[in-house]
Amino acid sequence: MNLTPLETEITHLLARREMDMIDDLALQVAIPTGQGHAPGLKEYRGLLLKRLDTIGATFTSIPGIPRPDWLYNPTRKTESTPTTPEPIIIAKAEPAPPEPGLAAPVMGSGGSGGAGGVRVLIAGHLDTVHDPHGPFQKLTIAQDGKTATGPGVVDMKGGIVIALHALEVLHELKVPLNWTFLLNADEETGSFSSIPVLQREAANHDFGIALEPALLDGSLATERMGSGQFCVEVRGRSAHVGRSFSEGISAVNALAEIMLKLEAMADPENGIIVNVGPLQGSEVTNAVPDYAACWGNVRVKDAATGEKFITMLNALCREGIPGVSVNHQFNRPAKPGTDAVMEFAHRARQAAEDLGQSLPFASTGGVCDGNILQSGGLPTLDTLGVRGGNLHRPDEWIEIASLKERSQMLAVLLSRLASPKN
Ligand SMILES: [Zn+2]
Repeated sequence: MNLTPLETEITHLLARREMDMIDDLALQVAIPTGQGHAPGLKEYRGLLLKRLDTIGATFTSIPGIPRPDWLYNPTRKTESTPTTPEPIIIAKAEPAPPEPGLAAPVMGSGGSGGAGGVRVLIAGHLDTVHDPHGPFQKLTIAQDGKTATGPGVVDMKGGIVIALHALEVLHELKVPLNWTFLLNADEETGSFSSIPVLQREAANHDFGIALEPALLDGSLATERMGSGQFCVEVRGRSAHVGRSFSEGISAVNALAEIMLKLEAMADPENGIIVNVGPLQGSEVTNAVPDYAACWGNVRVKDAATGEKFITMLNALCREGIPGVSVNHQFNRPAKPGTDAVMEFAHRARQAAEDLGQSLPFASTGGVCDGNILQSGGLPTLDTLGVRGGNLHRPDEWIEIASLKERSQMLAVLLSRLASPKN
């Protein structure tokens, strides 16, 4: 181990907090924040703001923007009142000015800094995918005490717990870190309401950290594909099947031709995945359908492949089928392993190794807010949360030892970002 006395103190203090971390996790997991459950999100937000307030954060609440209405919504036929987008909270803390006689902290080599040194953006999402009224509602620790299950226990309440404790310990030890904690509540549904805030904050910081769980083997994701949503709508002409069939233009048949073309665009070997579904067509069999639509998801290895897909998608509107319209949005641009992010990843690995841990690197087709932050120019590590598995399932679990280990790694990494000597 190659830790400074300050780093050793950080790790001791966090080790002593292990039981508190488990208690915090139980408390946070028991607040239902799945599927846009507003009362739970409000309660969780309140709890976190109270904690961050005690370590000197100032807060800004920014209203989320409405989701595009073309996105697939299974309830849209019956939904009468649009849901209000959840706000995004920006909690900021700047280091206290140096005490008289002490040198001011010097700026780190990695960032443009500012009066308060290197600026670190930590992104956490409050939402989970779990049913707020379902049977999976609380933290249950396994008999051997090594794992626990609970809704959002790794994705990402465990990540938020370790970040809280890491920041509290750094505050206690007066580490001069210039940090921002961004809390959004729509990550699991694509962050459509919080994208502008994520992009803007990315531009105002030097390093980005997202508290998503580590990959299953504990790896750090250094490369991610990009992901976009699309919708193709076809309007034809309705006609009675028996009396005037040949006057009709079937939107369903036209959409079927289009879907085959969309599927043909998929080329996973070369970094493009296209998945079509759900579908909407006619509701009766005795009329030529005048409306049909499909929704889909596209994943791409890089921005150029994304552009190619959009060009092909737009061309569908001009290929002789009347009444076709398309919508698309790459809400999660590709996140390549740039030089800047790899340098940052190596700093995280060094912190892990100095703590006697390991931090392998990997790439994934999964996406998260790290994609958005890095597309805003911010080198971002987005799997610095805890270890566990079965995300988005009713048996989502956490490896309990990872609370201590990963909080130590995060805190040591943050303290090194604050102090350019390391
Ligand atoms: Zn997540």
